[in-house]
Amino acid sequence: MRIPHLMHDDAKGVFGGASEQAPEVRPPVSTLAQNGSASFGKTVMNPDASFLNACFLGAYGENNDLFERLLVDLLRDHIYWRRNFHPDDPPPIPPFAQQDAAYIDFVSRLRHELQLLTARLKRSTPLSSPRYMGHMVSDPLLPGLLAQMVTIPYNPNNVSSDSAAGTIDLEIDVGLQLARMLGFPHDESAQNCAFGHLTSGGTVANYESLWVLRALKYLPLAIRSAAKTCGIQISFNGKSLQANDDWALLNLSVDETIAFADAISSQIQVDTEQRRRFLDALDSCRIDALGSVDFHRDHEGLAPPVVLVAQTAHYSWRKACKLLGLGQNHLLRIPTVDMRMDMDALDRTLSSCAEKHVPVLAIVGILGTTEYGTLDPIHEIVHLRNTWAQRGLGLAVHVDAAWGGYLTSLFREESGGLRSRDAMRQEFRYFPSPRVYKTIAALASVDSVTVDPHKLGYLPYGSGGGFVCRDNRMMDFIAEDVPYIFSNPEYRRKQSYRERFRELGRFILEGSKPGAAAAAVYVTHKTLPLDYAHFGRLPQLSIQATEHLYELMQAMAHRLTDLIHVLIPFEPDSNLLCITFNPVGNTSIQRMNAFAYRVYGHLRVDHARPLQAQQFFSSSTLLYPHSLAPAERNHILSALGLNAWSAADEHAEDSIFVLRHTLMNPWLRDSVNKIDYIAQYCDHLESLLRMELDKTPEAELTG
Ligand SMILES: *Cc1c(COP(=O)(O)O)cnc(C)c1O
Repeated sequence: MRIPHLMHDDAKGVFGGASEQAPEVRPPVSTLAQNGSASFGKTVMNPDASFLNACFLGAYGENNDLFERLLVDLLRDHIYWRRNFHPDDPPPIPPFAQQDAAYIDFVSRLRHELQLLTARLKRSTPLSSPRYMGHMVSDPLLPGLLAQMVTIPYNPNNVSSDSAAGTIDLEIDVGLQLARMLGFPHDESAQNCAFGHLTSGGTVANYESLWVLRALKYLPLAIRSAAKTCGIQISFNGKSLQANDDWALLNLSVDETIAFADAISSQIQVDTEQRRRFLDALDSCRIDALGSVDFHRDHEGLAPPVVLVAQTAHYSWRKACKLLGLGQNHLLRIPTVDMRMDMDALDRTLSSCAEKHVPVLAIVGILGTTEYGTLDPIHEIVHLRNTWAQRGLGLAVHVDAAWGGYLTSLFREESGGLRSRDAMRQEFRYFPSPRVYKTIAALASVDSVTVDPHKLGYLPYGSGGGFVCRDNRMMDFIAEDVPYIFSNPEYRRKQSYRERFRELGRFILEGSKPGAAAAAVYVTHKTLPLDYAHFGRLPQLSIQATEHLYELMQAMAHRLTDLIHVLIPFEPDSNLLCITFNPVGNTSIQRMNAFAYRVYGHLRVDHARPLQAQQFFSSSTLLYPHSLAPAERNHILSALGLNAWSAADEHAEDSIFVLRHTLMNPWLRDSVNKIDYIAQYCDHLESLLRMELDKTPEAELTG
């Protein structure tokens, strides 16, 4: 018998290998879900989504009345607000204007264009349906949708408090809510409180992380130059600051850099000419003032910095390195094992950087890869950061949790503590593996995080991404003002955290930004707090659904064993599941891909086909054999019955088609109507596979 999926040892696998319970091979799916009244199998746990009944507009628009009532009520409220501002001012647009030919003409054109717009929007993918299992997107939560819609007419701009009196504080609060979910300090009266804000998306949050971390890393060198220019004698590390070499000053941790700046600040007399000159000099010595070219001219012999990220990184990292002038060649891609960063390879790279004196700006860990939803072992990355710090190679850890950030709500107690793994194990067949659990627990120790409300936060686009740093003082070094740490202590005592960050645009990458998005995220986090008992039930349902899909896929693989090799190439960590398939007897990747595309043709978004004709939606990705370690590559190819891959082989395609499923809809198992859409999907997929195989001539498969 062919093993239909890869079994892994405890360190790697999650849904399969790492479980205490091995999944039994289940009976054919069709007996579960041939018709809508079939009952769920006993492995289906807690598919009850009833607590979410009021949280979405609904696949059928079931909550239309609630939505409409609240929307109309709150939009009217906006109108009253307009009228209540100098209610005795006469309306500048007179009622008889409505009889003007130009007015009438404009209204009819407006109506027409809006109708054309809604006609066009009918082509949209039906994200609210449990038949959608494609990309990282879903129907938005009602609180976010309503909050965003009712805030838009006020048109707040969260660039500063002047232009967003009503929403600027909501954005600061959202940052603190996300910080609490991730395990960062979130008491704004504490000096080291985290800080977070929204961005247009994860891409921009990723850019900002590198910008902040670069400004921070090069600050000690700037301080040394400024002190020298001003003839200030200060000490560091028990010796004169000037006696500390570049390499030592470049290898402080984030906390050490903050403490260093603080210590220097306290060594220079407040309100003196000397301090003013020091601050001016510092301002022009920072890397952001000099630019890399002049900076490296001044520091001859210093290698440019690198950023380390797994092979699986989102392409925004490449863009970030281009944009910041770091250069994409300085983004070092660490090989993966099972689509998770390989710690031995990371260790070797760090060792080589230490040896060659190449500064490491950051290790970027990925919490939820875009293609497979796999999690890099953040606890091990943090461990390596600490180990290498002791050996003189200091660096920051940023986590790209654009996809997986909100999964942490499932791990958070209502009181704010981390849930025990034992408690969580009651809710799932396999999740969370010890590795996943340790990874989430380690987030509290990283330096900064990207998290996307518009992905697993179920918020509408516009709410975008979020950048959260563990210590708000990190933002100091990209601020447009005198770094706060160096400002007069008297002033620092008087100005609160909130007052400072209300001038948001001075601290972040973007300028004008929608206050409506902050309102949407805030209201969502308030109505569904980011802990396991509230928001966490969304990822809980979606991971349970993925475990169900995982088992049904294995059963399908078993049934098709004589016809088609079906493989889950990498054990999932979260709610993303990919499969690959190849007709038995075919040994060519080219022919396998051609077959897969024919099957996928029935599952992809196809604008030429009426939506109603489509049963289900999934998505796809490509797997590049050359990016896998040879053992891993051989394992996958042989499980699929393919010839060994060789770059030199002219018939070898450079990628393998992968069918990808993102499970976010809470009603994938509809317990009210007893419909298991996941099982129906598997039946549908199986019949597509059989049908396309029947249609494929024998000769086409054997070459
Ligand atoms: C989606 C994603 C991004 C980019 O986020 P956008 O919001 O699309 O800009 C970055 N990293 C990862 C891991 C992602 O999944």
